[in-house]
Amino acid sequence: MTRTCVPISGKDIASARKMADSALSSGANLVEIRADLITGADADSIKKSFSDILGRSVITLRSSAEGGRSGLSGAERERWNRAALSLGAAFLDLELDADRKMVESLADAKKRVILSKHMMDGWSPDALSKALSECCRLGGVGKVAAKVSDVCDGVRLLESWSGDTASFCLMGMGPGAELTRALAGKIGAELVYCALDEKSLVAPGQLTLEMQKRVLTEDSIVVGLIGHPLGHTLSPGMHNAAFKELGMPGIYLPFDVPDESSVGGFMRGAAGLGARGFNVTIPYKEVAFAAVDHLDDEARRAKAVNTVLVEEDGSLRGFNTDIFGFSEALRAADCDPRNKRVLIIGAGGASRAAVIALWKMGAKIEISNRSPERAEELVKSMRVFLKTLPLDALQGEKPYSLIVNATPVGMRGFGGSPIVPDKLIASAEAVMDMVYNPQETPLLSAAEAHGVKAIHGLDMLLHQGAKAFEIWTGTKAPVEVMRKQLMGAIG
Ligand code: NAP
Repeated sequence: MTRTCVPISGKDIASARKMADSALSSGANLVEIRADLITGADADSIKKSFSDILGRSVITLRSSAEGGRSGLSGAERERWNRAALSLGAAFLDLELDADRKMVESLADAKKRVILSKHMMDGWSPDALSKALSECCRLGGVGKVAAKVSDVCDGVRLLESWSGDTASFCLMGMGPGAELTRALAGKIGAELVYCALDEKSLVAPGQLTLEMQKRVLTEDSIVVGLIGHPLGHTLSPGMHNAAFKELGMPGIYLPFDVPDESSVGGFMRGAAGLGARGFNVTIPYKEVAFAAVDHLDDEARRAKAVNTVLVEEDGSLRGFNTDIFGFSEALRAADCDPRNKRVLIIGAGGASRAAVIALWKMGAKIEISNRSPERAEELVKSMRVFLKTLPLDALQGEKPYSLIVNATPVGMRGFGGSPIVPDKLIASAEAVMDMVYNPQETPLLSAAEAHGVKAIHGLDMLLHQGAKAFEIWTGTKAPVEVMRKQLMGAIG
């Protein structure tokens, strides 16, 4: 099993010791005492203050040449490191480029040397693989930390290592690098570095100890949300609360994939490294539909995929749990649209999910979209018979029983006032807004002002998430825990 290591810094020895105690009592396997970052940390003070935990410590005196703060000369650093070893440190962390001679002269203690290389100015797969092989050959544990530019780069980083049996540690640093840490257990890494808590997250891409501990074994469940941009997402909090509640070895991360041409490659790469599945959000639900190998019936019908399961043979199966989420939200609100006139505004992925859910419930559906040709295209590609009408025709329409907003209008940061004429809102039995942030959108406020039932998008988010959780884990989702977490997050 992969071991966790929490870097310890601190303005002085006492605060560093406190932090180390906190990490070890919270379940860290090792602490890395960054002696170069702790004021007044010399061999004597380390001996005095850390003697009882040195057997669970990595001692690092990073040279200024390698981005650390130690001003000691080569010979002084060697003396210092030898002293740390003789005091009983579990490991010393040395540098491939700066410490070759020291590593040779410490050959007897090779097993207790973590040999590190930082590739912060770029790397190629060849250079990375060569550096990590060399670190593994010369040290007891070979470690490479490399800069990644996004989550796709993180996948390329892990793919660059052939994964022989040597003790290694390979981590990305930068946006999206959390995935490289979450997969440490699956790629068979000996060690992974993580932060004690949210406050101590210093290296971009680190996970907290609590999150990291959940995914240290080969059978852990690594999933996440593909989209761009992902600033507003509530899904990681909701799913991580579910994993925590059930004590499952799982983690859910944001996967911000910057361009649509990378979505398929990212899914296949992450799946090959052991990811269990994905959620997909704006603007990639149709891209995901085209990228998967198999589809469940509803996703095929909707031509939009919001959930992907990596099958045992590595193939990708697409689902559309928005359909279930939408139906559940209506059911929870006691809204039965059977044989009733329903208006959907919007003709994107969310609208497609609503069409299928409402069609199965026996509603008489009409669609209105800003670009009428997209509504026509929806009807044609889904092979459904329903009326489409331009937005400016709504004013003359008879009352609808249910009105559904499937556009981002009203979303935090997007803004906009309700597209539907007020008289239609006032005459409806219920209005549903798929927008879930804020909970109280201008459309739902208008409905409530007329005494019309308002159905919140948060309920749909909750139930589509619960269904996806069940697809990935085969376990019933703790819906109430997920709901509580969502409500807390949204305020
Ligand atoms: P999408 O595929 O990008 O489609 C967006 C739709 O909104 C299109 O029909 C677009 O019209 C229309 N639209 C965009 N801006 C507009 C504006 N200013 N005025 C009028 N119409 C506008 O997005 P989606 O995946 O369908 O998602 C739509 C919304 O549903 C998002 O806010 C999303 O967060 C929400 N959603 C919520 C849940 C949930 O669980 N609660 C699930 C899925 C989606 P054009 O065709 O003219 O561009």
